[in-house]
Amino acid sequence: MSLLQISGLETFYGASQALFGVELDVAEGEVVALMGRNGMGKTTTIRSIMALTPARAGEVRFAGRTIQAMKPHRIARLGLGLVPEGRRCFPNLTVAENLTAAARPGRWTRGEIDRLFPRLAERRDQMARTLSGGEQQMLAIGRALMTNPSLLILDEATEGLAPVIRHDIWSVIRTLKQEGQSILIVDKTLAELLPSADRCFVLEKGRTVWTGHPAELTPELQDRYLGV
Ligand code: ATP
Repeated sequence: MSLLQISGLETFYGASQALFGVELDVAEGEVVALMGRNGMGKTTTIRSIMALTPARAGEVRFAGRTIQAMKPHRIARLGLGLVPEGRRCFPNLTVAENLTAAARPGRWTRGEIDRLFPRLAERRDQMARTLSGGEQQMLAIGRALMTNPSLLILDEATEGLAPVIRHDIWSVIRTLKQEGQSILIVDKTLAELLPSADRCFVLEKGRTVWTGHPAELTPELQDRYLGV
């Protein structure tokens, strides 16, 4: 069943058009990769889904409802959990307080987050601002999971992090996938992203230009759509 379905999405920043017809869908339990070179519209697509930068045309359907006329907090409450580019936690709350503040009932509980992120469990009484960048990113993911979203959206969740932390985050993403969490993910690390994804959508200049299984994204296609 389709959880998220986007068609003909057109989004503007002022007079400047960024999206010209994005098509995208995520089925229940799927991990979908949203790909494309810098500036092709990945973050704008996510911002449009969440109505942070509302689309001017097209449709966003989530769990069978049209959501693009709703306010961002209502969309979040329907079950969309975004981890935006650049981590966002409450700096002067502890790790535990950050997680508890986000909590809504469901599968992902404090105990589960401790199991997924032992580094956070060890630092549960530390202020978020004293965590490393990578640990703050883990906390941002933990917070999004604590809202028990039907769809978790990760925008460049591993960018700029130390290799050992990236490795841990990818391993968490694989665990989430095994446990049936639906995920929409933007990331530049193809070597990790492709084996984790069920399907890929490639954007070019604000349009969906390719969609398929990761195994069909040949080196030639990667070069054409993602190469620098
Ligand atoms: P990146 O990988 O660099 O984050 P992206 O694929 O996420 O790229 P977007 O950030 O969605 O791309 O940008 C799509 C287009 O919209 C680009 O042309 C960009 O310059 C433009 N854009 C993005 N944010 C703004 C903004 N706040 N105001 C004006 N134009 C913007």
